[in-house]
Amino acid sequence: MIRLYNTAARVKQDFKPINPDRVTMYVCGPTVYGRAHIGNFRPAVVFDVLQRLLRHHYGPDKVIYARNITDIDDKIMDQARAEGVAIDVITDRYETLYLEDAAALGVERPDLHPHATTSIPAMIAMIEVLTAKGHAYAAQGHVLFDVASHGDYGSLSRRPLDEMIAGARVEVAPYKRNPADFVLWKPSSKDQAGWPSLGGRGRPGWHIECSAMIAESLGTTIDIHGGGIDLTFPHHENECAQSACAHDGAPLANVWMHNGFLNFGGGGKMSKSLGNVQNVGELVAAGWTGDELRLGLLSAHYRQPLTWDEALLGQTRARLGNWLRKLGDVPRGVRPPPPAAVVEALFDDLNTPAALAAIAAIEHDSEALLGALAFLGLPSLGPERSRNAANNRSGREDPDAAHIETLVAGRLAARLAKNWAESDRIRGVLTAQGISLEDGPGGTTWRRS
Ligand code: AMP
Ligand code: ZN
Repeated sequence: MIRLYNTAARVKQDFKPINPDRVTMYVCGPTVYGRAHIGNFRPAVVFDVLQRLLRHHYGPDKVIYARNITDIDDKIMDQARAEGVAIDVITDRYETLYLEDAAALGVERPDLHPHATTSIPAMIAMIEVLTAKGHAYAAQGHVLFDVASHGDYGSLSRRPLDEMIAGARVEVAPYKRNPADFVLWKPSSKDQAGWPSLGGRGRPGWHIECSAMIAESLGTTIDIHGGGIDLTFPHHENECAQSACAHDGAPLANVWMHNGFLNFGGGGKMSKSLGNVQNVGELVAAGWTGDELRLGLLSAHYRQPLTWDEALLGQTRARLGNWLRKLGDVPRGVRPPPPAAVVEALFDDLNTPAALAAIAAIEHDSEALLGALAFLGLPSLGPERSRNAANNRSGREDPDAAHIETLVAGRLAARLAKNWAESDRIRGVLTAQGISLEDGPGGTTWRRS
């Protein structure tokens, strides 16, 4: 039994997916306005280990993992203005770099990577529902979520409202009924990116983006929602509130998981606003390998803070060097199963330090060692499995295809939930875009007609 620490419950719980044939996980992905630093890849690596573990337990095709790309945001608009280029020049550049850096760390492509800009209609639809149900109001061109309308507000982060407001950057604005009310939609000036809707041209707030992308790509209630600990409030609290209110109280996620921060030696959290950050490219240029960086990120339990410095990387190099030597010339083409002790350690809330200790205990057995290191996803040991579906699913090469995949997955979710009206609605949306669907035993295929 996999056990996971659930931020919402503040305890470790047995993990029971809603449907073991379709385990759903969503992790908040990067806002692509600058190159991600190594700390940004801690969630990418941690949840990559989790998706591998889930596939090992439930079956390679029984897990749908989505990680979004936030490609509309004021920081992106600022960067585009500073460089005098179009927004998609910025978002394309940094999304490409993100995917390259992730690949260097052995992070597999998620099944879906919805993009905010291709899910705008879903966001608008959700805002309309929230407004109709009395959970959102319009004020000075904005649409705001009314936190007082939701009795459970604050239940995820478990902080009293006034404390949350004092501790976080909650924008104070005269048009808010309550200082904690947050923006669902904001007006765009002529020279700002915007979409026509809701009585005016504008753009979505960050929180509604994830709520809408989750509903569209995975369904109403998902099994696992992940991200960095800093996202608990306000981002995840707000996602929770919006989705529950839009879906008549149905929870957005059953398990909330948050990774601790990576601290640069000397303390203080690393963030893109600090100058002293290291990105994967710089670390690789300095001679560290993708294997070393991945193993370094996994050396502490994911919920603990991790000090990222030369000492950590040096220890990781020594440990890994020893193991890679011990692998010797064991054939790499065949992938032995991971040793049970390693899998068991990971079953216990992804306890990677315990898994590494279990590996040390079997290091004399080169086959078991190969199985263990490959299971942890060391990039030099290559892709563990070829999911043929992954190749044509989403991806930045063809954002239209990514959006279609998202809709197809949303329709599948609706069908599994026997929500035929929703399934028909999505087919209708696709038909209107000239996409025809064919349902077969191997799943749904689509083509442009
Ligand atoms: P951002 O692009 O800033 O929204 O961050 C993307 C993800 O990286 C979020 O899940 C953050 O919580 C996470 N993150 C940002 N900085 C760090 C850090 N220093 N250590 C660990 N995770 C981080
Ligand atoms: Zn999010």
